[in-house]
Amino acid sequence: MQNTLPRDSTVNFSLASILESSQDAIITRDISGSIVHWNPAAEKLFGYTQAEIAGKNIDIIIPDRLKSEDDHVFDRVKNNHKIAHFKTVRLSKDKKEIPVSLTVSAIKDLDGRVIGVVKIYRDLSMQQYAEEKQAMLAAIIESSGDAIISKSLDGYVTSWNAGAQQIFGYTESEVIGRPISFLIPPSHIFEEDIIITNIRKGIKVEHLETIRIAKDGREIPVSITVSPIKNKEGVIIGASKIARDISKSKRAEEDNAKLYAEIRDLNTKKDEFIGLASHELKTPLTSMKGFLQILERSQTIEANKVFIYKALRQLNKISGLVTDLLDVSKIQAGKLHLNYETLDFMSLLHDCIELVQFANDSHRIDVKSNFLILPIQADEQRIEQVIVNLLSNAIKYSPTADLVEINVRKNDTELIVGIKDFGFGISKDIYEHVFSRFYRAENVASHISGLGIGLFLSKEIIERHQGKMWIDSELGQGSEFFFSLPLFLR
Ligand code: ADP
Repeated sequence: MQNTLPRDSTVNFSLASILESSQDAIITRDISGSIVHWNPAAEKLFGYTQAEIAGKNIDIIIPDRLKSEDDHVFDRVKNNHKIAHFKTVRLSKDKKEIPVSLTVSAIKDLDGRVIGVVKIYRDLSMQQYAEEKQAMLAAIIESSGDAIISKSLDGYVTSWNAGAQQIFGYTESEVIGRPISFLIPPSHIFEEDIIITNIRKGIKVEHLETIRIAKDGREIPVSITVSPIKNKEGVIIGASKIARDISKSKRAEEDNAKLYAEIRDLNTKKDEFIGLASHELKTPLTSMKGFLQILERSQTIEANKVFIYKALRQLNKISGLVTDLLDVSKIQAGKLHLNYETLDFMSLLHDCIELVQFANDSHRIDVKSNFLILPIQADEQRIEQVIVNLLSNAIKYSPTADLVEINVRKNDTELIVGIKDFGFGISKDIYEHVFSRFYRAENVASHISGLGIGLFLSKEIIERHQGKMWIDSELGQGSEFFFSLPLFLR
């Protein structure tokens, strides 16, 4: 486009309105480089107003490194060369570089002499942004380890990334334009119909775990997400599919399941072994006890009697441990049977105290209770086992104390017993653990003997009686173990 200055005012007027309304920045400069015209789009693009910029050198919007570019452009236009859609950058008022497409034409006077140029700048920022975004997305798609595939609504592959090649073994050129069904095993072909029906309705299909087939015939477990692709008008024109190879996680899942089954088997075997071993030990122990008792009765020499008595005490200890182990395996096998009867809890409690005091004289056991008799329905032997265990623990875990307190109270429905010691105490974070099988707190495990099953058995027995068991304790101060029992069985 070569311009000569218009003579007629109508032409002048219409040119002015084009300048005003143009979306592109339109600038004129004279031969010295001074800016003459500067339309509203230029104001918007570069940030200078017409008043600010008029008469300023065009250099003001040219970055330093491109200063010579403008002279070069001017020379070319002066020599009748066309400059159209030349991509370059210009500077805004706030010194930001703006990518622009530049078209330049000469302005000549009536004698055909070049007296200036008109420059049209089109802002390429959005286009550049879109191109960069496009390039970035393409790079992400190419570098993804997942297969990213797009297909038309009738199921033909339209794009295929490096991840898809990696997982399924086909190159892009082998699959573009082919129906996607080559990836789907015949037994799963129905899935494609369901997916496409959903996609046509604009519904995304997420994390569908299924099987696809690689080029070499291998079945690959994949997790698939398929989303609709829409054109600018919002019309669905295809689908993009992301397929993640989940072989590894599937294998790990299977391995874990196998490991879990093995551990469960081993655990069952261990329980069976404990049950069997304690059962086998029980019989010889009972015979030994019987023989020792006969020997004790028939022994006349007092010194020998003491040894027999000591042997019997140790035997009773072993026998107690074996019985506990047997009980544990009965519980595991669901075979712990209770024999309910009506009994007086207070006399049972006193019997237990006597039993424990007989074996331990290091501690005094005090009972705080307002009851002389307290009838309950329970399995006497099992409740005795609980009380003896709690009292023995109270003594065992308070070696420097000399007192254990028992508190008995009741409300309308239940009896509540607290057994309190002034020993090591238990930290709150292991309250629940102490009731589990074979658990022993670290601070006592090394120097106080035990198998870690007494509280497990006690809690089980109390809960089988529809009661509860709980702890209140302060580390270094002592512990109080509570259990409740219903006064009347439901
Ligand atoms: P064991 O006494 O044979 O270890 P228990 O099942 O009776 O087994 O107790 C489990 C664990 O609970 C004990 O090892 C101990 O760490 C803790 N424990 C039980 N009773 C007390 C107590 N009165 N004071 C402090 N810790 C206790």
